[in-house]
Amino acid sequence: MVRICCAFGCNEKFIKGRSVTFHCFPKDENRRKICENKLRRENFKVTNGSRICSNHFSEDCFDREKFGETWLKNFLMNI
Ligand SMILES: [Zn+2]
Repeated sequence: MVRICCAFGCNEKFIKGRSVTFHCFPKDENRRKICENKLRRENFKVTNGSRICSNHFSEDCFDREKFGETWLKNFLMNI
């Protein structure tokens, strides 16, 4: 399966060797809801297979080590 970013207007695909990285959404329901709202896509449900690319995070805040817990604060959606 090809990984594609689910953000509106973003057609980023996962290509090995590129600097763009792909990330899962939080498992927590509430956090997931916040993400869905930020994505501004009608009738879009975040699933376990959904991925968001690193283009939607600011470089300086992007913490690859602690990504799981802190990324939501830095979720920008500059699209
Ligand atoms: Zn993207």
